[in-house]
Amino acid sequence: MNHNSSDSEKKNFLFFLNKVHPPSIEDPVIGALTRPARWSSLAGLLQKARRTSSFVSSIKKLQLYVHVPFCERLCKFCHCARGLLKSKRDLDLYIHAVARQMERQSKACEGMDASHICFGGGTPSLLDEKQITFLLDAADAAYPVQRRKIFFETHPSSWTRSKLDLLLDRGLYRLSMGVESLEACVLKQVARSQTRQKVLSSLYVARAAGVPYVNVDLMSGLPGQSIQGLLEDIKKVVQEGANIVHVHPFSSLPVNELCGPQETFVDFFKRRSDMMHEAAKVLKASGFKRKGLGAYALNQAGEDHQEEAYTRLESAVLGFGAYSIGQFPGALFYRTKPSGQDNGFNSLEACPQDLSFVMARYAIMAIITDGLDEKVFLNRFGVSLKQACKGGLNYLKSLGLVGSFKGVWKFSASWEIEHLREYIALSRVLYGEDFLLKLQKRYAKQYNPGTDYRKGKTLLHSFSNHWLMALYYQMGV
Ligand code: SF4
Repeated sequence: MNHNSSDSEKKNFLFFLNKVHPPSIEDPVIGALTRPARWSSLAGLLQKARRTSSFVSSIKKLQLYVHVPFCERLCKFCHCARGLLKSKRDLDLYIHAVARQMERQSKACEGMDASHICFGGGTPSLLDEKQITFLLDAADAAYPVQRRKIFFETHPSSWTRSKLDLLLDRGLYRLSMGVESLEACVLKQVARSQTRQKVLSSLYVARAAGVPYVNVDLMSGLPGQSIQGLLEDIKKVVQEGANIVHVHPFSSLPVNELCGPQETFVDFFKRRSDMMHEAAKVLKASGFKRKGLGAYALNQAGEDHQEEAYTRLESAVLGFGAYSIGQFPGALFYRTKPSGQDNGFNSLEACPQDLSFVMARYAIMAIITDGLDEKVFLNRFGVSLKQACKGGLNYLKSLGLVGSFKGVWKFSASWEIEHLREYIALSRVLYGEDFLLKLQKRYAKQYNPGTDYRKGKTLLHSFSNHWLMALYYQMGV
């Protein structure tokens, strides 16, 4: 792609960027810089970084993440990293491989507080009681702590009372249920198998049994879904005890499957956007606070919010299994890749992560959530916010997008990050040009200006934010 893109190319891009790509706080920007690596080299890199960098050694919290990339059925809307589970034996092989990985990285993390473990997927609730116990025991052996908080994702159809009891016994802290919708006709259209009754009774039982945080994932804009339907779903799950709710915007490939029978693209995007707005209103009226894009929580300490622990960079994350991500702030970032034979377990990409990236990311996430405090920033990084953001915040202030009061920076009331576009605008200012130019070089090759992405059938192969960010930046819009 060259710098003199035609107007139609720009429109093409902007259509994709603004209308098709779902809002996301995922930040794989740094992933754009990764190169093939080996598991065996990670431990050495970590050990060295912890020895030589005072910032890295100041990070004491370690979050363990286990990805379970299997599902019983594949829902139409889903972009998660997952595949069909063929046999229970695959799960057995997989958990043994995960346990080996845990063991291999443990020495490099000695002395860290690994008191959080998250199971995501895919469908972690496909693991039976024995397999869950095996993984928790493996984590205990490799990263001993007195008591671990467990975050666990479930699908209603594979969730059982005995799994709940087992996890509660081991420290279940947050149960996350993929619900998407409670309406049978909507679920049928996206090939999702579950019953309303099972969802609601699972929520009720979880809260009654004492799970501190119960999260429900819903979607907006699903085929056949109305605003009213979504709002009723929200009210119902809150009534049954959900105290965290995520509302994800529906997006699918190919794009033409997004629209209902009588619906144009414009209709669809309006319906989806109206749903996100109305959902926010209902949740806020019920006492929920915004915790990220589409994420809302009721009376909850930020520290214990899974996404925040990750995005605020107060802790390191070690991801295990296929399709997982690991990050040691200020030291390295890695992700496991799928590959034919080993299900991605041994295939890995990694890159160093420098402190300027960490500071920019921290600043962005703090502004999105509770506000960015200059004193906290200085304490955290030993660098002033002004120095780190190189005038970026003042620039955003001059545009009326952010404001500061008593040294705390927040979005101005009329402007919240809801779309990737705003996120990118903010990132462009805070990350700085050098970093984005690196991305630009790598990803400019992947855009084919000859493809009309507005037509929808042959949408971009990649949904990665960093790719879009690079191009957005290059186009200077
Ligand atoms: S939504 Fe959940 S159950 Fe459905 S395919 Fe995606 S990960 Fe699997």
